[in-house]
Amino acid sequence: MIRHTASSINTNLLAELAGRAIEAYPASAASIRKAHTMALNGAVTLTHDGAFVESATTPGVHYRVQGKVCTCPAHTPLCCHRFAVALLRKYQAEESLPEADVPARPKRYYAWLNGKDVLAGEAEEAGDGNYTFYFQGRPLATTVPFAMLTLLGEVTLAETQRRLDGSYIDKVCGR
Ligand SMILES: [Zn+2]
Repeated sequence: MIRHTASSINTNLLAELAGRAIEAYPASAASIRKAHTMALNGAVTLTHDGAFVESATTPGVHYRVQGKVCTCPAHTPLCCHRFAVALLRKYQAEESLPEADVPARPKRYYAWLNGKDVLAGEAEEAGDGNYTFYFQGRPLATTVPFAMLTLLGEVTLAETQRRLDGSYIDKVCGR
């Protein structure tokens, strides 16, 4: 059994879900607001097949919620107890979603571009074996294939050293 308490809950997410529920069931806004408070106060205990919800008016009294049925005297599938359970179920589902994937920043390397001239700059993986080449800090308009590049150390790894003793590229290329 999972008992949510006010201290362990992401109150912003729960409030957002309650807001969405009110939008979907405007006629039940009052019930949903009550349900929101109950969920926040830890009145809901989820079980594998339903939930127990403590009465807001009679502490110590618990109603059993299973599917669309609640044992409370209201006898309606739209009672605050069912909304409280639905809110927490939804909350659990959303909370367990993985964080949105943050794409990893491509590695950037010190590089030489062997074209007509040899240019010293940086290169960043752009996919499909191509690289974005940065000359004097600005990316070239088109990506270049790996075959045209000579990669040196990774910029992030060499950055500390570069700050200590000046530009690595300047040293390598004798600029
Ligand atoms: Zn009820």
